[in-house]
Amino acid sequence: MNHVWQRALTTIVLLAVAAFLVGAALGRTAGFAFALAGLALVLVLHWRNLAAFERWLRNPVPAAVPNGSGVWEDILARLARLMRQQSQSQQELFSALEELQRATAAMPDGIVILDEQDRIQWCNPIAEIHFALDHQRDLGSQITYLARQPQFAEYLASTSFSEPLVLRQARGQELVLAVQLVPYGNRQKLLISRDITRIERVETMRRDFVANVSHELRTPLTVVGGFLETLTDMPEPNPAILRRSLELMHAQTARMQRLVEDLLTLSSLENAQNLLREEPVNVPELARLLHHEAQSLSGGRHRLRLEPATDHWLLGSADELRSAFSNLVSNAIRYTPEGGEIVLSWEAREGDAVFAVQDSGIGIDPRHIPRLTERFYRVDRSRSRETGGTGLGLAIVKHVVNRHQGRLDITSQPGRGSRFAVAFPARRIIRKGDPLHAAEVAPEPPEPARSQATG
Ligand code: ADP
Repeated sequence: MNHVWQRALTTIVLLAVAAFLVGAALGRTAGFAFALAGLALVLVLHWRNLAAFERWLRNPVPAAVPNGSGVWEDILARLARLMRQQSQSQQELFSALEELQRATAAMPDGIVILDEQDRIQWCNPIAEIHFALDHQRDLGSQITYLARQPQFAEYLASTSFSEPLVLRQARGQELVLAVQLVPYGNRQKLLISRDITRIERVETMRRDFVANVSHELRTPLTVVGGFLETLTDMPEPNPAILRRSLELMHAQTARMQRLVEDLLTLSSLENAQNLLREEPVNVPELARLLHHEAQSLSGGRHRLRLEPATDHWLLGSADELRSAFSNLVSNAIRYTPEGGEIVLSWEAREGDAVFAVQDSGIGIDPRHIPRLTERFYRVDRSRSRETGGTGLGLAIVKHVVNRHQGRLDITSQPGRGSRFAVAFPARRIIRKGDPLHAAEVAPEPPEPARSQATG
């Protein structure tokens, strides 16, 4: 029998026995009155418990279930136990949900959950950035109202989501997103977005680079090919024409060779595995060597000066520094008309050491300066080519400077000249008296000079 019925039966039996005994001792009326009073007391107790229970139901705080008395004591105790278990599992569920939210918020990809009608059910913070969503405002909105690009609407309407869609200019900005839909559950979809702006930029740079190199090589190859064809067609070539043709072909092959050499230098500088050699470099001596090299490159057409104001050495790669500095010197000569002045200097400044090449040449319009170190960027394409330029010199300089944690400053005025200064940080400077100051590594012999400036 049910526990409640057992208690009720026991109460009724006890009351009936007590009423019978009272009736036997004091008469039937007294027994009857006793029974009535007993029943009323039982009822009042039930109502009291009921009232307490009803009060609790209005604000059912799990920890405040009333105690109860009689048969209610047991029932309410069981209810309290149940409420405790429920609130504990709710707590566990909340923390699991919070954990999940924290994990999705930390994900580098955007995630949006869409219902069967492509309405936003939930999104993580990265998706808010990718699609300019507002977690509070846009829940329940159609994703196509927010991500308005037509390709996106087409992709959403299609049924094949095996390949991601590349969304360019997402949010009207430079952002490039790879977007993929993953159907799941009851016709719901998971929209995953990844920012591939950087990857796309690298890919564009790679394509441009291949196009540039092919273009740079095609011109000299066409010239050489043309001469060879003409000479082959001549039964007996005129010695003067033959000589001139060979000279021009030689110039073109030298140009290709310079380009390939610069490309190899760049590729080795860009190779992350190629660690920087840390050796003591005698920069004052290197500056003297470059000054000498510049004199033969200039062929007496410029006034050249060397200002070694400090005897500091540098910790770095002798070959790389020589290559970078010699590019700056060669540029100064190539972009300075005859009679101009070029000054090489090596000085200590505010804790740094600065190698600078100043010229009184053609100068550079300020709008070109931020792009000068890009590969193949030239202000005046024909002048660069005429003077034997590959368009890679300053890109090499930038890499060498970065590898030495230095800074390249370019100041210039069109028509008045330019100054290219490379500042090296104090930790690369080797001062006189330092044991390393004597342990010089001899720089390699100078590279063959680029062709001379036309002035
Ligand atoms: P290039 O082989 O064409 O000289 P660089 O990378 O060395 O390539 O230089 C890039 C461009 O910067 C040059 O084409 C030229 O327009 C400009 N430039 C570099 N140095 C100077 C300079 N000293 N004076 C004027 N323009 C310069």
